[in-house]
Amino acid sequence: MGLIVQKFGGSSVADATGLMNVARVITDTYKAGNDVVVVVSAQGDTTDNLIDKAKEINEKASLREMDVLLTAGEQISIALLAMAIEKLDYPVTSLLGWQAGFETDSHYGRARIKTIRAERLKMELNKRNIVIVAGFQGICKYDDITTLGRGGSDTSAVAIAAALGADKCQIFTDVDGIYTADPRKVEAAQKLAEISYDEMLELATLGAQVLNNRSVEMAKKYNVELEVLSNQNKIPGTLVKEAAILEKMLIRGVTKDANVARISIIGVPDVPGIAFKIFGKLAARNVNVDIILQSIGRDGTKDIAFTVSKEKAEEVLETLNDSLDFLSGKEVLCDTDVAKVSIVGAGMETHPGTASKMFGALFENDINIQMISTSEIKISVLIDVEDADRAVAAVHKAFIPGK
Ligand code: ASP
Ligand code: MG
Repeated sequence: MGLIVQKFGGSSVADATGLMNVARVITDTYKAGNDVVVVVSAQGDTTDNLIDKAKEINEKASLREMDVLLTAGEQISIALLAMAIEKLDYPVTSLLGWQAGFETDSHYGRARIKTIRAERLKMELNKRNIVIVAGFQGICKYDDITTLGRGGSDTSAVAIAAALGADKCQIFTDVDGIYTADPRKVEAAQKLAEISYDEMLELATLGAQVLNNRSVEMAKKYNVELEVLSNQNKIPGTLVKEAAILEKMLIRGVTKDANVARISIIGVPDVPGIAFKIFGKLAARNVNVDIILQSIGRDGTKDIAFTVSKEKAEEVLETLNDSLDFLSGKEVLCDTDVAKVSIVGAGMETHPGTASKMFGALFENDINIQMISTSEIKISVLIDVEDADRAVAAVHKAFIPGK
C-alpha cells in the first residue's frame, strides 16, 4: 500500500473499451489500498488532428493559441476517464493541469515545469479520491495555459510522482517494456528487466519511442523509479532506475532516428574561428546541432558537416546560404535521406572493441558510414536512410544474438 502514480498514453484511452480497461487497472490499484493519481494523454491521434485543424486555418498560428487548442485533447480524456471510473462506482475527481498546480515557464509549446503546488492533489487524496490529471499542460505566470512539448504527459506523471514522493510511477503503454530494439522490426529484440536512467535517457533521445526524454531527465533528478509496462497483460515491465543490473549485456539497445538531416558547408577557409562563426549563427537561431565532422584542411580550405533535426534543415540551409559570403564558403548542401543508428549501454565504457564490433556488422552488410559520434555509453553512426532498418537488425544481431 502506498501512493502510486499511473500514466496512460493516448492509445490506451483511444475509445470507450480502452477507457473502461484503463478504469479497471486504476480501480484495482485503488482497491488494493493504494492512493492513486493518474495522468492521461489525449485520446489516440487527437493531438495530431488538432494540429491539422489549426494548420487548415493558419500555418503560422501563435504558440500561445496552439497551446489553448492542444490542451483540449487532455481535457476530453480526463473527463471521459473519470466518467468510466464513476461507472465502476469509485470516488474520482478530474483536474486540469492548472488545477493540479502545474506552474510552468512561459515558453508556449515547450514549457518547463517550475513547481507543482500540490495542495489540491493532497486534499483530493486525503478524501480518498482517485485523481485524474490532464497530462502535458500547465499554467504560466501570465495565467496562460501552456504545454510541455510533444509526449509531455510522461513528464507530467514523473513530476507528480516527485512532488508527492510517490512510491511508484508506472507508465502504461502499448508495449510491455523497454526492448533492445523495436520489437515490431527486430524479431530477436529482448525485453529488459531493468535499465539505468542514463541509458534510458540516451535511448529516448536517440529514437526509442517509449519514454519522453525530459521525463527520464526528471526521474533521474528526483530519483523517481519508473516502471514501463503494458495496460493489457499483467506481466512485469521494465524498471528504470539509478543502478540497473547488467544482465551480462554489453549494450542495452539499438535505435534508429530518421528525423535527421545532414548539412555540409563546403570550402570554408582553414583558419581559426570558422566553426565558431558557423555554429554561432545557428546558436543564435536556437538550432540544436548533433554530430559534427570537420575534414582535414587541404589547399587552405576545409568542409564542415553536421546533423540537425529534419524540421530545422530548411532554416539552417537558408541561414548558412545567407551567410556564405561572411563565412567565405563555396556552397551549402543538405541531405535528408539519412538516418542515425545508435547503440547504447553502460557496459561499453569498460569493454574495448565495442565500436569495432558495430562497424564490423555494418561492413559485413555493405553499409557505408557517413559520420560517427561517441560518448561514454553510446555510439552513433549516420548512414543512408534506406539502409537503416537493415543496419539496426545487423548491429542488434552482432551484440544480442538471440536465444
Ligand atoms: N497529447 C500530447 C501529445 O500527443 C502529449 C502526450 O501524448 O504525452 O504529444
Ligand atoms: Mg499523445
